[in-house]
Amino acid sequence: MRMTTIFAAAALAVLAAPAFAQDLVAGAAQVRDRALTDGTAWAVAESLTTEVGPRMTGSPAMERGRDWAVAKFRELGFTNVRVERFTTPAWFRGPESAEVVGPAPHKLHILGLGNSASTPKGGLTAEIALFRSYQELLDQPEGSLKGKIAVVTQRMPRTQDGSSYGFVNAQRTQGPREAARRGAVGYLVRSLSTDDTRLPHTGGAQAAGIPAAALSPPDAELLENLARRGAVRVKLDMQSRSDPKAPAYNIVGEIRGTERPDEVIVLGGHLDSWDPGTGAVDDAAGIAITTAAAKLAASAGPLKRTIRVVMWGSEEQGGSSGAYLAANRAEVPKMIVAGESDSGAGRVYSIALPAGSRSHPAMKAFEAALVPLKVVVRREAPQSGGADIAGLISAGTPFVDFNQDMSRYFDLHHAADDTLDKIDPAELSQNVAVWAAFLYTVANSDIDFRQLAKEAK
Ligand code: ZN
Ligand code: ZN
Repeated sequence: MRMTTIFAAAALAVLAAPAFAQDLVAGAAQVRDRALTDGTAWAVAESLTTEVGPRMTGSPAMERGRDWAVAKFRELGFTNVRVERFTTPAWFRGPESAEVVGPAPHKLHILGLGNSASTPKGGLTAEIALFRSYQELLDQPEGSLKGKIAVVTQRMPRTQDGSSYGFVNAQRTQGPREAARRGAVGYLVRSLSTDDTRLPHTGGAQAAGIPAAALSPPDAELLENLARRGAVRVKLDMQSRSDPKAPAYNIVGEIRGTERPDEVIVLGGHLDSWDPGTGAVDDAAGIAITTAAAKLAASAGPLKRTIRVVMWGSEEQGGSSGAYLAANRAEVPKMIVAGESDSGAGRVYSIALPAGSRSHPAMKAFEAALVPLKVVVRREAPQSGGADIAGLISAGTPFVDFNQDMSRYFDLHHAADDTLDKIDPAELSQNVAVWAAFLYTVANSDIDFRQLAKEAK
């Protein structure tokens, strides 16, 4: 066949495709292009980090965050704006300090971990037992750390997909409890950080009844060097309090579908944050991306299905995923698909769609829109969709996973450096374009992810 004939045949095949698929391709491209020059997401991230700032569950800032969310949804034209209240355990940081008292005095840069206990008034001083890997701590017999402050200094490698966080996560989340079980009176862990600044990175941990804090990476290395020389004594002085039933809120806004409004696409990010920074990449970015994407998806005309954006209110300290499922369980069979943006503001580079859906015309239209955004659709279905849609997933909601470049995310995550200036507006817009194209094609088609998954088996 000559080339012209091949082109003619291809053109005929395109013309023969169902009209709705053609409309989906054109519409998805249109909302994508609009998203790339639209400033909504940046404005939302700027507004949240500037006007509200850090937003710990149960804090007065979170109450302001709730009011900000309601006002922002309304300002952007969302309807059915509502607040779903629940209660969840919350921890609140008080004054904290740590220092090496011998052999040479050094101030240590620390941040208490969520659920850390307070030290006795006036602090506690003890010799450290330092382990360069978390496994070394786990290898210690019960009672062997009696009276010591356990220190784990395992490093977190930099990875594009953020997977190293999963490998080292237990040293923060479970380390305090494992140390306490072995008799330790305190716990210090090298921050789950890929940066080398003297900023510690906080985060949640299981309650262990002992004070527990993250060390800045240089301070973890300082303790390694001191420990190599002999006994090291550290003083910890940390105060905190907790509330087993703190008020928390999931805030919801919708763009209602015109033909099948009870069929709902659920997406969102989390409104709460840790306290050292302004919660910009974690997760004002996710709030901004999903809110802007919903608005842009609706910018090319009325949608057939409903898009619902949820600003989940307690991801960091837990509770919002379960509360959202509990309040909306009856609706799950009508939830078409769920997705979450909680990996920062780096560009999307690959996408995992529910099993069996890649070849559906709607997802073909979506995939076509992704080409100029340099995003590929993976062969495999997603493994996990994110902490706040975990409840919906457990109840059988189909879900997607958009993989972002997380190379730099753990330089900033849960640290004082998580601030607005770290968000690249162009990368933020690329995220919005990807989500907007996805929402557009799902909301304007009849794609049934549950049925496609069944057929794929
Ligand atoms: Zn997050
Ligand atoms: Zn986080």
